[in-house]
Amino acid sequence: MAASKIEVPSYSVGLVLEDYNLPYANRAYFILKDTIAIAYPISSKEIRCLVDVPGPKLPSISTEICTFQMPPELYNAFICAIDKENIRTMPNRIMPASSYPTPGAFLIGDSLNMRHSITGGGMTVGLSDVVLLRDLLRPLNDLSKAASICKYLESFCVLRKPSAFAINTLASTLHTVFSSSDQDPARKEMKEAFFNYLSLEGVFSDGLMALLSGLNTNPLSLVFHCFAMLAYAVGSLLLPFPTPKHMCIAARLILVCWIRHHLPYTEGRRN
Ligand SMILES: Cc1cc2nc3c(=O)[nH]c(=O)nc-3n(C[C@H](O)[C@H](O)[C@H](O)COP(=O)(O)OP(=O)(O)OC[C@H]3O[C@@H](n4cnc5c(N)ncnc54)[C@H](O)[C@@H]3O)c2cc1C
Repeated sequence: MAASKIEVPSYSVGLVLEDYNLPYANRAYFILKDTIAIAYPISSKEIRCLVDVPGPKLPSISTEICTFQMPPELYNAFICAIDKENIRTMPNRIMPASSYPTPGAFLIGDSLNMRHSITGGGMTVGLSDVVLLRDLLRPLNDLSKAASICKYLESFCVLRKPSAFAINTLASTLHTVFSSSDQDPARKEMKEAFFNYLSLEGVFSDGLMALLSGLNTNPLSLVFHCFAMLAYAVGSLLLPFPTPKHMCIAARLILVCWIRHHLPYTEGRRN
């Protein structure tokens, strides 16, 4: 029913840090080193930690996770969790939405469309699919005619695009930028420029959060923030004086954004 190409850019390795509290309550922590780790509380004494291990192959826990540069405050709890071997590994899959209409069956959620888990948008997109499907089916009195309902629901993939578009695009862009290794100076500069943009307050951070949480589904807002992020990053690289090295980094940055923003345009296609 779904024949989109599935990409696996990385694996998430999940651990539970016990008897540990993060410095600020009710906050999630993004640790941006050579790769990304996210830590957030799941109970009064437990912290879930997800380490992103780039690459399409199942990571070797011992070599790839133990060498992760955990900040000193988390290090002991992190090593303790590794020793207990209470570790789970999940692939991060990216799959654009494109469906083969099939009478009697209908795909929503991850079976239809997946994006990187870095922005935690999967449930938001899945639940938006549920709401849209409910609204489409509500006026129908007779659900027994599978073929005609299948035809009627052909508009689903197009109608869901505004709610999925921003979340999918930002997940891919933020993962590409933040998973860059610090050992490559060009990528490190890119990462810092994007991070500084996210640290801006007001319309910049609030607007991005509204897009990431699905509260704002206006594609123009996404276009605004993508251009603003890119302009901020390129501007901070080239000002006050552009050097050949920084011009080269800026060109690479524009190229990465251009490639990443092409993926969502393939969504909503019918096969
Ligand atoms: C590491 C990671 C972290 C994430 N963090 C977040 C987050 O913080 N916030 C967020 O919103 N999203 C997050 N997501 C994404 C989110 O988990 C998914 O988008 C969401 O669970 C999709 O819901 P679903 O119902 O479509 O699929 P699933 O939750 O995968 O449910 C499918 C169910 O079908 C069952 N199933 C499969 N095959 C069969 C079969 N043949 N017969 C019967 N049952 C079957 C499976 O066991 C499963 O229970 C994360 C994903 C990953 C990988």
